[in-house]
Amino acid sequence: MADILYTYKNSVYANITNKCNCSCTFCIRSLKDGVGSADTLWHEKNPSKEEIINAIKNYDFTGFDELVFCGYGEPTCALNTLLAAAKIAKEEKGLKTRLNTNGLGNEENGRNIVPELSEVIDSVSISLNAPDTQKYQEVTRPGFENGFEKMIDFALKCKGKIKDVKWSIVDVLPGEDIEKCKRLSDDTGIELRIRHYS
Ligand code: SF4
Repeated sequence: MADILYTYKNSVYANITNKCNCSCTFCIRSLKDGVGSADTLWHEKNPSKEEIINAIKNYDFTGFDELVFCGYGEPTCALNTLLAAAKIAKEEKGLKTRLNTNGLGNEENGRNIVPELSEVIDSVSISLNAPDTQKYQEVTRPGFENGFEKMIDFALKCKGKIKDVKWSIVDVLPGEDIEKCKRLSDDTGIELRIRHYS
């Protein structure tokens, strides 16, 4: 049975769904079963909204001030659960909430979900992955057309509604791609976080 909540470094993470609308070439899901304190993050069956809310309610968050929605899947593929769980985390547990996302949640849900997210999510980290349409398509392999443009549009919408919005890339990208990502960050005013690949 996979853990719904697990710790990694200084945060508690919520693994609410294994569903995803991308098939990234580097996806950690294809490399190992678990992360941090979790032995496996593959759910035999995706947990229900109630199971996730109960897990948050019953968890001892002593020493942690943030809950990150991340996990082995894309949290916006379980939007109703994400919104309900984030609300509980904020209101009942007094936690900050962060969403780590591939930025395709609007497409997945067929509407602009940013206003709903902004009510319960304090910060958003969006996987940029690549500096242009072609490279994004090759690396991320989204289940939608024009995924890169849709991810950019989502990021811009988030920037208008949510205080802390970042793009992230990993430092395995070629130097020229990293430079292009930095330029995109400068042009849009969305901060870029360059993570070390591990
Ligand atoms: S978006 Fe995340 S979970 Fe989905 S395939 Fe890519 S790395 Fe894996």
